[in-house]
Amino acid sequence: MRRSGKRLVLRLLKNKTMKTRNGFVSNSSSSSFTCDVCGTTESGYDASLSDFGMMQCIRNHTFCESEAVKSNEDLTIDEKREALLVEVRSNKWNKEDVIAAAVDKITKMSDDEINDEYEEDGNYEVAPARCPICSMKEFRNEDVLYFLLKKQGKTFKVIGEEIKNEFGDFEKFMNYLK
Ligand SMILES: [Zn+2]
Ligand SMILES: [Zn+2]
Repeated sequence: MRRSGKRLVLRLLKNKTMKTRNGFVSNSSSSSFTCDVCGTTESGYDASLSDFGMMQCIRNHTFCESEAVKSNEDLTIDEKREALLVEVRSNKWNKEDVIAAAVDKITKMSDDEINDEYEEDGNYEVAPARCPICSMKEFRNEDVLYFLLKKQGKTFKVIGEEIKNEFGDFEKFMNYLK
């Protein structure tokens, strides 16, 4: 179960996400998690990530505990600082000036202050340095796909037309991909 907000500076910033998650749990709804690395999907009622041996980074990448790059104890001060910064920047509800103020505050924190501020959060919102995707050890198909599209300067629609013109038939297209 999630702890209540302990990061003093960030408590206000996190209220929105915490409400969503708490509501989710109390509603006794089914939940499903798919690992962004190996594709394993787990689902169940009132389940949390830890029930399935999975975790999620601050950027919401989902991965198996066994795929974590490092343990929480092995995080450096810089990696903890980065985690706090990513957390502040990735909160969509924050206004620009609130983000800027929080970033400034975190940037100026001493090592001791970072250690006080950074709290392990169970299997949720783990530091990017622990995430195989944030660490660029693994890549999600969709991210690679968007990268290739951007490199080519093309959209899904344009590529779709090209596929249609080249194969004309879904089965031929699938055979090509084998
Ligand atoms: Zn996995
Ligand atoms: Zn990540």
